[in-house]
Amino acid sequence: MTVANSSSEIIYADNAATTKPDAEALALMFELQEKFFANPSSAYKLSRPLKKILQESREKIAACINAKPQEIFFTSGGTESDNWAIKSSVLESLPERPNIITSAVEHKAILNSCAAMKNLGCSVTKLPVDKFGAVNPVDLREKILPQTKIVSVMLANNEVGTIQPVKNLANVAHEHGKIFHSDAVQAVGHIPVDVDEFGVDMLSASAHKFNGTKGVGFLYVRTGLNIAPYIDGGGQEFSRRAGTENVPAVAAMALALEKNCRDMNVTAKKISACEKILLDKLKSNGVDFILNGGDNRLPGHLSLSFKDCDGETLLHRLDLKNICVSTGSACNSQQVQKSHVLQALNISEDYIYGTIRITFGKENSCYEAEIIGESLTDILRTI
Ligand code: PLP
Repeated sequence: MTVANSSSEIIYADNAATTKPDAEALALMFELQEKFFANPSSAYKLSRPLKKILQESREKIAACINAKPQEIFFTSGGTESDNWAIKSSVLESLPERPNIITSAVEHKAILNSCAAMKNLGCSVTKLPVDKFGAVNPVDLREKILPQTKIVSVMLANNEVGTIQPVKNLANVAHEHGKIFHSDAVQAVGHIPVDVDEFGVDMLSASAHKFNGTKGVGFLYVRTGLNIAPYIDGGGQEFSRRAGTENVPAVAAMALALEKNCRDMNVTAKKISACEKILLDKLKSNGVDFILNGGDNRLPGHLSLSFKDCDGETLLHRLDLKNICVSTGSACNSQQVQKSHVLQALNISEDYIYGTIRITFGKENSCYEAEIIGESLTDILRTI
C-alpha cells in the first residue's frame, strides 16, 4: 500500500502492527457517529437503532468465526481481551496458587497479564517452542497440573507469523478439564477461524488488525463458561463488560471483518505473491538471510534475519527510502532488546539483531514488493 505523505509517497508494509481502516467501514463509522449519538442503553426511541446495530454487528462477527452472537463480547481491543481472559480465569482461585500455562512466544498482553498474576501468587508455566516457533501438544500434556486454571496459546505469532496447533492444544487442555484461550489477534480476518472446530473456550481479536479501527475488539466466550467480568460498572454486554459501547466502531469492525473474510482467499493469494517476489529478489541478489517461522505461517508475514546487521539501522534506512517495516514486534520497536520470540526460536547471535518484520496487507502490490527487495539489497550492500 502506498500512502500519500506531505513530501512523497510511502510504502506501508507493517500490517501486523496495524492495518489501514477499510474505506467503507470508516465511512460507516463516521456516518453512525454523526447520526446516532444516543446512548445505546437509553430507553427512548432514539436509542433503538443503536441497539439494533450492536446486535447485527454481534451476529456478523459471530458468523465470521462460527460462534453464537451472545458469545461475542465487545472490548477495547486485543490487550483488554487478553487481560480479561487470563486474569478473570485465576482471580477467583487466589490465594490458592492457581497455575497458568502459556507459551514462550506470546504477545506482551498475555505475558504481562501472567506476570501480574504471578505477583499476586499464581504460578506461570511457559511452554517452549521448536525452531519454527510452534508449541508441541506433548509438552502441554506433560506440564498440566491439577491446579492449572487456564491454558493460553496464541493462534498466530505477531513476530514470525507461526500458526500454532490450537486444535490439538485445546484437546489436550480439555482432556484435563482445563479452560483453553487463544490470542487470535493476528489471525482473525486473515486465516479461517472456526471456534467450534478449534475447540477454544475463549478467543481474543482486535479490529485494527483486520482493517477496522483502533480501540475496539472482542472476546469470544463459549456458552456455559462463566468467566467473571474484568471491567466492572454498568450492565452492558450482558453484564459482563461494563462501559458505554462504541457502536460506530463496533459496526465498522463487523463490516471490516465481514469483508476480510469474504475476500480472504483472494487476499492471501495476492500477498503470498508479494512475499514470493520479495524473497526471490533477495535470493537473486545474493543476499544472505534467514526466513523465520517455517512454512506454516500467516500469508504475507515475513520475519527476516540478516547476518551481522542491526535491525534498527535497517528500519531507519528503509524509512529514509519511504518504506515502513518494523524490527522484532511493532509493540516493542522502541526498545533495543533481543526479541523474546526470536530467542525462543534459538536464532543465532549473529542473525538475531539483524531482524526485520515485513508484513504485506490487502493494499500492497507486487510492484511494492519488488521495490522493497531492491531497496533492502542496496542498503545491505552499503552497511
Ligand atoms: N496480541 C497480539 C498477538 C498482538 O499482535 C497484539 C498487537 O500487536 C495484541 C495482542 C494487542 O492488541 P491491541 O493492539 O488491540 O491492544
